[in-house]
Order: sequence, then C-alpha cells, then structure tokens
Amino acid sequence: MSAKSDIIKVTPSEFVGVGNMKETITSNGHLCRYCHGNGFFWCEQQRERVKKDCPVCKGSGKLDAVITIEWKPSKQ
Ligand SMILES: [Zn+2]
Repeated sequence: MSAKSDIIKVTPSEFVGVGNMKETITSNGHLCRYCHGNGFFWCEQQRERVKKDCPVCKGSGKLDAVITIEWKPSKQ
C-alpha cells in the first residue's frame, strides 16, 4: 500500500502580523483509510451488488488535510 507523508515546518510566515495571527496549510492526496483508497463499498440492494460511494472521501479515495495554525504571543 502506498503512503504519503508531509513534514510541516512550523515557523511564522511573513503574512502573520497584527490582525492576522492564523495561517492555513493544506496537504492534499492522503489515502482514505475508511475505504482503503477504493472510494466505494460494495453493498447489496434488491439482490444486486451495487457500488456505494465512501461517505468519508465521497468516492475520491483520497483526503485533503486542512491545517490551521494559530499564533499567540509567548507568555514570558
Ligand atoms: Zn474513502
């Protein structure tokens, strides 16, 4: 099974300043563990096998991570 890993280097970006203490990082294309990357499940409906989209990844088989970092002044 393939695996994807990203490393996040935590450092305040140049856009972090007064009134903008949050930043968002996205990490795309992670394998959906719920359906093991298939994107669907087989299920039976009226004695017929039908494909049902994975409720977690909505059929794509992959997930994107949206990571929000909130910066706060250090307590001394
Ligand atoms: Zn899935």
